[in-house]
Amino acid sequence: MDKLIHGIVEGGAARVYAAVTTETVNEAVRRHGTSPTTSAALGRTITGAALLGASFKDFDRLTVKVECDGPVEGITAEATVEGFVRGYVKNPNAEVPAAANGKFDVRGIVGKGTFYVIRESGFDIGLRPDPYVGSVPIISGEIGEDFAYYLAKSEQIPSAVLLGVLLQNTEPFVTAAGGLMVQMMPGANEHVVTMIEDTVSRAPHLTSLINGGADANDLAKMAVGELDFEILEERAVVFKCNCSLERAKTMIAALGREEVESMLAENNGAVMTCGFCNEIYQLNADALEAILAGDTV
Ligand code: ZN
Repeated sequence: MDKLIHGIVEGGAARVYAAVTTETVNEAVRRHGTSPTTSAALGRTITGAALLGASFKDFDRLTVKVECDGPVEGITAEATVEGFVRGYVKNPNAEVPAAANGKFDVRGIVGKGTFYVIRESGFDIGLRPDPYVGSVPIISGEIGEDFAYYLAKSEQIPSAVLLGVLLQNTEPFVTAAGGLMVQMMPGANEHVVTMIEDTVSRAPHLTSLINGGADANDLAKMAVGELDFEILEERAVVFKCNCSLERAKTMIAALGREEVESMLAENNGAVMTCGFCNEIYQLNADALEAILAGDTV
């Protein structure tokens, strides 16, 4: 089971969020059949959304949207307050050659554009206030640096964000995935800030650590070194979509009577695929008849 932890350094000088997301990212990759570089981009975005979601308390659903002009065309990842995450890319088959250093060219597949963070709350109690939307230009395309830039510019929180996905050619394709987010608090002791920045900048690759058996606690400890660290929260991270056959039926019904009648006449049924998780819902003729007979149309 993937895990995320959240703790404070030196009584609150910095907040550290660390997660191992190997199973979560593997589930996303398996469901969407993404190409290797696209898998890396999607996995980093999903992991970043889980970490960022753990750092905000004022939302039901947090969405990270990467609107970009690179071959992947766009990435969306969502995290709920419970720690469920889901995500997809617009072009799962997009691929680019490896970068000069032999690594996935995530920057190349993302390109330029805008990085959005959308926080919504009030759904459960029917309030549905306007979502809070923050956005910054994509400055890197490597995703981790874009999360850090968003936190600095839009939330005024100086941060370091490391996100990594390690892949292999056979299933399970994702052998290691995880992330680390360090947020400096206002008025943090310069000494503490310097120490964390130094440790993080010299940190070995997260995915090598995870591949070697490191869990979320180990990643956090690696970042804080000798500094005092107190864990405040531990939670599971799971790829979980909120789609269902019932929701698929509601969406079909919302298309209107004429559309449902034509689906029935032309296809004797309907097929709906959830964009977020690629689950396929098949509605047979009886199901469409039931929608037409119901009062939802
Ligand atoms: Zn779904």
